[in-house]
Amino acid sequence: MSDRKKRRSDGSFKPEWEILYFFISEQENSRCLVCSRVIAGQRKFTIERHYNTLHKGEFDDLTEEERKQKVVALKSNFAPQSEDGLEEVSCAS
Ligand SMILES: [Zn+2]
Repeated sequence: MSDRKKRRSDGSFKPEWEILYFFISEQENSRCLVCSRVIAGQRKFTIERHYNTLHKGEFDDLTEEERKQKVVALKSNFAPQSEDGLEEVSCAS
């Protein structure tokens, strides 16, 4: 019985960073939902620094609930578009 999975804990993306820093995990990297920049690696220090430097002033006074809504809204911008139906050209003639 081994329910203790020991993984290397450094470099793993923490779900709460989405709310705290507006970052999502993207493969090995992290993407800022606000400015859509991708940052190499998934280190809290790097992500926190990006947020504190660029976005803190803009989002720091949001409540937790507002932040969650913001994350959902920002994420929908990155949702993969369905390939058909994208820019449907109507032949008007
Ligand atoms: Zn950013």
